[in-house]
Amino acid sequence: MTTTPPSKRGRILTGDRPTGRLHLGHYVGSLSNRVRMQDQHECFFIVADWHTLTTRNAKDEIARIADNVRQTVLDYLSVGIDPEKSTIFLQSGVKDTAELNLLFEMLTTVSRLERVPSLKDMAKAADMEEDVMPFGLLGYPVLQAADILLPRATHVPVGKDNESHVEVTREIARRFNFQYGEVFPVPELVVGDVPSLIGTDGQAKMSKSLNNAIMLSDDEKTVNEKVRGMFTDPNRVRADIPGRVEGNPVFIYHDAFNPNVEEINDFKERYRQGKVGDVPVKNSLAKALNNFLDPLRERRAKYEAQPSLVEDILVAGTMRASEEGRKTMELVREAMGMYQLPR
Ligand code: ATP
Ligand code: MG
Repeated sequence: MTTTPPSKRGRILTGDRPTGRLHLGHYVGSLSNRVRMQDQHECFFIVADWHTLTTRNAKDEIARIADNVRQTVLDYLSVGIDPEKSTIFLQSGVKDTAELNLLFEMLTTVSRLERVPSLKDMAKAADMEEDVMPFGLLGYPVLQAADILLPRATHVPVGKDNESHVEVTREIARRFNFQYGEVFPVPELVVGDVPSLIGTDGQAKMSKSLNNAIMLSDDEKTVNEKVRGMFTDPNRVRADIPGRVEGNPVFIYHDAFNPNVEEINDFKERYRQGKVGDVPVKNSLAKALNNFLDPLRERRAKYEAQPSLVEDILVAGTMRASEEGRKTMELVREAMGMYQLPR
């Protein structure tokens, strides 16, 4: 991998837990910004396998991890993340993350972590009562701070639901710099075009675990079926009743994925007046989504056909991230004045 040309502005770190395939929510929340930013920024994309152990049955998760890691990397490649420009790496392959995590654990308080709003959601999603919550789940935002700050990232493109975690990272960076001297940038959040995409059920944010997601790797038939079953305006039992466009997931997806604005506006107008049924609006959405996904499917097939490619990318990326991490840890130990044994 080449060294960074001086024209590159700032560094990105973001990523995903390898718990399954990525969906349209991940795309609008974070992936689209990654693709957009990879030319001007030096990008590190983390496949965060340690993070899967905090909310799930670790043993079950580990059994699936190799395949999930592979699918996550294929998802990245399919949207146009270019391994020649960006570093894709495996979290658990960069051991310095664990040391930085430990040092950062001293720079935040238990009560601060207990106030992170997503903690309750994550515990709830994992069916966890407070008294069985692992220490590691409370520490999730600290480990994420170590992920972000190990390569000294300046920008973090994530969905809105991740904002409170990045806030903890920013506090830890400030506190470290204040106590020990300037080592870390205070990274900025970069939220996507749609900060939180609703699921096909219209009830909750699109999520892998809620059965309300359209995957980036879904084939045409699956997309058609999922769109056909989508929630619309529940009060509209007949096509001649005026319908609600705002908050209607079918129109939210149209706005996000259908480039034909004229067609969307025409549908909206007629929908509000009760002059178009759900079926034509959905058919057109399914078509727009398949058009959007076609180039992703092509790229995925191309990369999938090269058997060792994903591993090669991860091995090279993990070496590159480790190298950057090693440099940061030297700065950290020196700034802290840690006692170091002679070599
Ligand atoms: P899921 O939330 O689907 O179960 P996950 O919890 O494994 O997946 P996260 O770590 O929550 O994955 O998400 C990875 C990234 O994608 C984060 O930046 C997150 O904010 C973003 N993201 C996830 N779901 C959505 C969504 N529905 N809309 C916008 N951004 C999203
Ligand atoms: Mg999530």
